[in-house]
Amino acid sequence: DPRIHAIKTQIRVVPNFPKPGIMFQDITTLLLDPKAFKDTIDLFVERYKGKNISVVAGIEARGFIFGPPIALAIGAKFVPLRKPRKLPGEVIFEEYTLEYGKDRLEMHVGAVEPGERALVVDDLIATGGTLCAAMNLLERVGAEVVECACVIELPDLQGRQRLNGKPLYVLVEYH
Ligand code: IMP
Repeated sequence: DPRIHAIKTQIRVVPNFPKPGIMFQDITTLLLDPKAFKDTIDLFVERYKGKNISVVAGIEARGFIFGPPIALAIGAKFVPLRKPRKLPGEVIFEEYTLEYGKDRLEMHVGAVEPGERALVVDDLIATGGTLCAAMNLLERVGAEVVECACVIELPDLQGRQRLNGKPLYVLVEYH
């Protein structure tokens, strides 16, 4: 798709952030280009429209940028999966290890019903630990995760192998 090249061009790579040796993929520069930002959303919407997805679950924080416009366009609800102690209601949580550090994702009890068809959205997959935790949250409440969607994949980290065969759709790869 010719739109992919422009999207990749607008993603900035910041060396040694947030610590030495990390090449940080920065999507804030993509957001500065309305055409490339819209193309990003459109590519996901074209893929998921008509697939009977009832919930888009976005991972804090950058899944909150891409998830809601996708949810609105496909007629699904949006559910935020958040870092600890941000959600005010009763939550369930999953712990996971990151490329740099350890963390936990929380989801409101009652936000997703058994049998719902879910799409998980984030900006980037590195080791796959975050997406794995997100899928576990949804599956624990009886939802079916149809697919995970990210703008960027770092394939060298083999994060796909942690997704237990669940399909992952990405727009750009960075080696
Ligand atoms: P994973 O759990 O190792 O797959 O890491 C993915 C999570 O870390 C996602 O929520 C990303 O937003 C974040 N992350 C890791 N590396 C980067 C990066 O280079 N740019 C932006 N986010 C990153």
